Amino acid sequence: MYQQGMNNNLLGLDQMELVQLAESLGEDSFRGRQLYIQLYRRKQYDLGHMTDLSKSFRLRLLQDYSVTLPTVHQAVTSRDETVKLLLRLDDGAFVEAVHIPEETRDTLCISSQVGCAVGCTFCMTARMGFARNLRVGEIVGQVLRAIEMGLVGANGFNIVFMGMGEPLYNYRNVMKAFRLLTDSEGMDLSHRRITVSTSGVIPVLKQMAEEPKLPNLAISLNATTAEVRNRIMPINKRWDLKELLDVCRDFPLEPRRRITIEYVLLKDETDSDEDARRLARLLRGIPSKVNLIPYNPNPGLPHERPEEYQIRRFQEILGELNVSAFVRKTRGLDVAAACGQLAHLETS
Ligand code: SF4
Repeated sequence: MYQQGMNNNLLGLDQMELVQLAESLGEDSFRGRQLYIQLYRRKQYDLGHMTDLSKSFRLRLLQDYSVTLPTVHQAVTSRDETVKLLLRLDDGAFVEAVHIPEETRDTLCISSQVGCAVGCTFCMTARMGFARNLRVGEIVGQVLRAIEMGLVGANGFNIVFMGMGEPLYNYRNVMKAFRLLTDSEGMDLSHRRITVSTSGVIPVLKQMAEEPKLPNLAISLNATTAEVRNRIMPINKRWDLKELLDVCRDFPLEPRRRITIEYVLLKDETDSDEDARRLARLLRGIPSKVNLIPYNPNPGLPHERPEEYQIRRFQEILGELNVSAFVRKTRGLDVAAACGQLAHLETS
């Protein structure tokens, strides 16, 4: 049944809910469908300009509803042209989204929560603590705002849920946003271009495996022993990495798709030759590729970036053991938009 959010924002409602809304206002159901097309396909956010809707319907909508995109509080462009957006939500909370231009295809990194409860020691978002889940409209709103600003084209870019928050702790809203982003009648983005990254919420991962349409999956692994992972990712005390990798082994994948394993290289903590060998062993039987992320220094966090030669050596060892591994180029470092650097702290 259609349920309106606190702020009466139409953004985030799917086609069925907009049809129900139209009917509840005494309109034909096709008016709801028209409204859906206006919002998500035509990207028209001014109710007054939706001239294919009857005037009476528009007036009814204007009385009680709005179409609200997150507001750009700040946009900072890095020397490498990465753009970090600090977005203000209806209730005054802030989240960040990052646009990373690339030669072949741009990437937009979006948030799923305000803050995060997972507490990874290498991540600035963890310092914020957890405030709340993002609503569906606030998730798709980040994408629509980036399109509206001309940062990304309406089609043909990657979306990664790797900004603030643990997406699987906001599973219902993240998956509804995913369906809206990929609906062929609406935003029509390719599900193959959307990646959801998780620190390993095993029960939700199992639930996700049952979905009819799936985004790509990325696992934020970052360690090869329970001891180290317990220390840098406390979630491991609840859901252990071996069990997590077993779930990955069974995860349904489309032909030629692989799970991305995110691995932050922390000097003298996760970057040893033995770690590389152990990682290769752990990943046996999982169609996967490894993204190595040399740690990006953050003020006040207790880690260091490895030397370049050790980063290369780690990658080489994986290669020798037939594991595809890529070193992720650090982007947006000078504006604190790189991996693990997203946070809106009162002091920042
Ligand atoms: S790395 Fe991800 S899961 Fe861990 S604290 Fe940061 S935002 Fe949360």
